[in-house]
Amino acid sequence: MTLENLEKRVLTGGAVTPEEAEWLATHPDKPALYEAAHRITVALASQEFDMCSIINAKSGRCPENCKWCAQSSHYHTKADVYELVDKEECLTHAEANQAQGVARFSLVTSGRKLSPRNMDKVCESVRYMRQHSSIHLCASLGLLGQEELRNLHEAGVTRYHCNLETAPSYFPTLCSTHTQEEKVATLRAARAVGMEVCSGGIIGMGESLKQRIEFAFTLRELEILSIPINLLQPIAGTPLEHQTPLTEEEILTTIALFRFINPTAYLRFAGGRAQLSEEAVKKALHIGVNSAIVGDMLTTLGSQVSKDKQLITEAGYHFSDSQFDREHLWHPYTSTTNPLPVYQVERGDGATITLKDGRTLIEGMSSWWCMIHGYNHPVLNRALTEQIAKMSHVMFGGLTHQPAIELGKLLLSILPAPLQKIFYADSGSVSVEVAMKMAVQYQYAKSKATGNERLAAKSNFVTIRNGYHGDTWNAMSVCDPVTGMHSLFGSSLPVRYFVPRPTSRIDGEWHPSDADELEACIAAHHTELAALILEPIVQGTGGMWFYHPQYLIEAARICKKYDLLLIFDEIATGFGRTGKLFAWEHAGVVPDILCIGKALTGGYLTFSAVLATNEVADTISNNAPGTFMHGPTFMGNPLACAVAAASIKLLMSPEYDWQKRVARIEAQMRDELLPAKQLPQVADVRVLGAIGVIEMKEPVDMARMQQRFVDEGVWVRPFGRLVYVMPPYIIEPPQLTKLTGALINVVASCRS
Ligand SMILES: *Cc1c(COP(=O)(O)O)cnc(C)c1O
Repeated sequence: MTLENLEKRVLTGGAVTPEEAEWLATHPDKPALYEAAHRITVALASQEFDMCSIINAKSGRCPENCKWCAQSSHYHTKADVYELVDKEECLTHAEANQAQGVARFSLVTSGRKLSPRNMDKVCESVRYMRQHSSIHLCASLGLLGQEELRNLHEAGVTRYHCNLETAPSYFPTLCSTHTQEEKVATLRAARAVGMEVCSGGIIGMGESLKQRIEFAFTLRELEILSIPINLLQPIAGTPLEHQTPLTEEEILTTIALFRFINPTAYLRFAGGRAQLSEEAVKKALHIGVNSAIVGDMLTTLGSQVSKDKQLITEAGYHFSDSQFDREHLWHPYTSTTNPLPVYQVERGDGATITLKDGRTLIEGMSSWWCMIHGYNHPVLNRALTEQIAKMSHVMFGGLTHQPAIELGKLLLSILPAPLQKIFYADSGSVSVEVAMKMAVQYQYAKSKATGNERLAAKSNFVTIRNGYHGDTWNAMSVCDPVTGMHSLFGSSLPVRYFVPRPTSRIDGEWHPSDADELEACIAAHHTELAALILEPIVQGTGGMWFYHPQYLIEAARICKKYDLLLIFDEIATGFGRTGKLFAWEHAGVVPDILCIGKALTGGYLTFSAVLATNEVADTISNNAPGTFMHGPTFMGNPLACAVAAASIKLLMSPEYDWQKRVARIEAQMRDELLPAKQLPQVADVRVLGAIGVIEMKEPVDMARMQQRFVDEGVWVRPFGRLVYVMPPYIIEPPQLTKLTGALINVVASCRS
């Protein structure tokens, strides 16, 4: 047994045994032990320091006989005695702490548990605080049952605190009015109702070193991730008043052991740390204390917290710069009570973004497909500032403007001739809504034109599974029903027809049976179907799947046979991403309606367009009601049109040579990513144009992987089993090598 071996074992996901922990505790070279614990802290525990704060919301007169406690009515102490503080005072304390950057605020009361009346009062205070503040709330109210905890959770408490206090073998000598099992039952009940838990204790109460280790293992078994560590403050009048304090070395050794035994937990400095010299506090932070309960005296709070913060920063930790964000801002597909981490971006330049903490990351996502020319492009910047000086917006009803006309001309010049009419919309999802409304109105108009009333029933849609078309109501209805969570929205979501996605790969054989289900479905239901909508060649967010062009040829044939319109959603694939300017070109199939968005403005503004044939537009316009029924406020926004026109001109300019850029990215990604196929974690690797995909065998932990990527200096956001990149076209070869290298490193380090 060596210190190095044990450290290495913990660092690689293993655990030490209680006997090994005892061996560590008696290791003669304390500085070496502290350094080993420090390295474990840096590698495995949060380096973002977590500050919380408490209010003693009810003090004194406790019937329990815990030997260390000033509040026990069994002993004569000088502790304050007061009844439950009111909600206004709770809020004042919470707000003062929040203003200091404290992330969590806890209501603590004395006593075995609260009376039902006081429980109600606490819940009311919690609700009141939630009405006025978003600081995360904890509570420590004694031994509660599930029902009480559920009420507390529903009121807004997300974490429950109940200290085990000490080792199971020692607890009975310190307290006889309740058992440690009752504490464990409370923690389990809190977990059962959906709360996080926090549990630690007091050291220096006369327990042996072995018992301190036993205590740390008990917390480990319970998977406690927030562990307050108090140093006994002997209180006059209590049985422990003459307890000899632990030496500094005993305290620091305990912290090191707790870190070895609970490597990922928050070890939280709580009471009694005032006994320590500043030097000892610094050492404790260095070894492994990565969270703390900060001062609860409002008058001195500001100076206390800023002094603490200084020490903590010097020890190498940082503080969240996103507290407001976490408390108030909703992010895509994210919980507000348990949000995934976010990184604050200061600026973007070319193929990089720079975080507020100064780190610069290679951008692998083009901000979800759209930033094709990279950030802060002088040409696009200029187009916007020039347009701003004229007008940022003007209504499109009854008015028109040069940017709208210029953009329209550019779009017609790069899209197939049959698509003659352009409808400008606000976002990708809205363009899908518009396209679907167009298809329904087309069939309706046709029923008027032909006198065939039955055609008006053609108002539903068919699509392929694993698709993604946006998050608004109708767009959502044609997203994959499983990943799109259709069941969640129940009967209010229109029910569409789904057929399997094509199995033939773009670079493989065409399997003629791939179109069979589509044909069967349309043959059976064409009397109610207005259109087929799909993403041509590349299914994006729904699975990053690249399929065979022949499928589009078959789809067009079947649609024609059964009088369905064909809608292509090129919101992700448009503007060169797949190696063709638009994905329809892979098959040479021109749809009746085409949606574009995302890269349309070079990623500068939300904007989209729906293109339609004259056949579609004329039919709608020549029949009742004679107009297309859609017209958003910001339709044809001049800023968006101006920057979109500039982006397209840039893309199409001979010097830019997008084809060469995308081909170069494709070749390099093939070279650098395809070898990942050999990794045991990897199911498939695919590259098409400027899109590279590693499909894993198992779903990945997004938050953790995202952090690994940031550590590698790249920005990649994995999703489900997919780790993928679609870099800006202006990325330089060494930047791309860094990106693909990070992809392989991170994937290879996942558990296989
Ligand atoms: C992103 C996307 C959409 C939705 O666009 P938003 O601008 O997010 O509304 C629709 N279809 C496809 C294929 C997309 O990739």
